Amino acid sequence: MAEHVLQGDPDIAVTLRRNARARRMTLRISQLDGRVTLTAPPSVSTREAFGFAREKEPWIRSHLAARPDVVEIGMGSVIPIEAQPHVIAPATGRAIRATGTALEVPGRPETAPRRVLGYLKARSRDRLVAACDHYAGRLGLAYSGISIRDTRSRWGSCSSAGRLMFSWRLILAPPEVLRYVAAHEVAHLAQMNHSPAFWAEVTRIHGPYDGMRRWLRTEGNALHRYRFGD
Ligand SMILES: [Zn+2]
Repeated sequence: MAEHVLQGDPDIAVTLRRNARARRMTLRISQLDGRVTLTAPPSVSTREAFGFAREKEPWIRSHLAARPDVVEIGMGSVIPIEAQPHVIAPATGRAIRATGTALEVPGRPETAPRRVLGYLKARSRDRLVAACDHYAGRLGLAYSGISIRDTRSRWGSCSSAGRLMFSWRLILAPPEVLRYVAAHEVAHLAQMNHSPAFWAEVTRIHGPYDGMRRWLRTEGNALHRYRFGD
């Protein structure tokens, strides 16, 4: 793999990757870490490939600038919980406590990221279990289990065995968005597809959902900006 640096403010490293099946050159910017990868067919010379990257420099810079900044969670940082900004603050005692504007975290500051993450995952699980129980009751079908993960590609899924999976980061979103994702996955217990019959089930057990889907499309990606020291 070759690398080329586009000089500027900031310098941008472009990694060249060869792909025998590629028909043309493509640029990709990782949403995770902002890494820029240029994929090129073997027939294109390295010089030509990096010439292409230089031509696309304005596009690369505008996309990098639009990427949400990473927020490292620690004392003093701010994270949304059910869409309400909470500042991470030191506290005495044992348990983490959310006040509505602050998340009070006792213990040594260096343990705060891990403790905040644990708190958010537990709270996410609570809310998702409550929502899934509610919608499964309305649907009249039971799920076999719930797991909470940190997935980037999807907010939830439903296996053919009736096992539901969700991203814990839904706890950062407005509560109605978390409830919609729960209803969506529960509705898959009845319809393992996205047919009109599936969407009719979602509407029946949940009600209108356009606003929540739109929120996930426009704001969802920003929920991945929070890091917890790992
Ligand atoms: Zn689905």
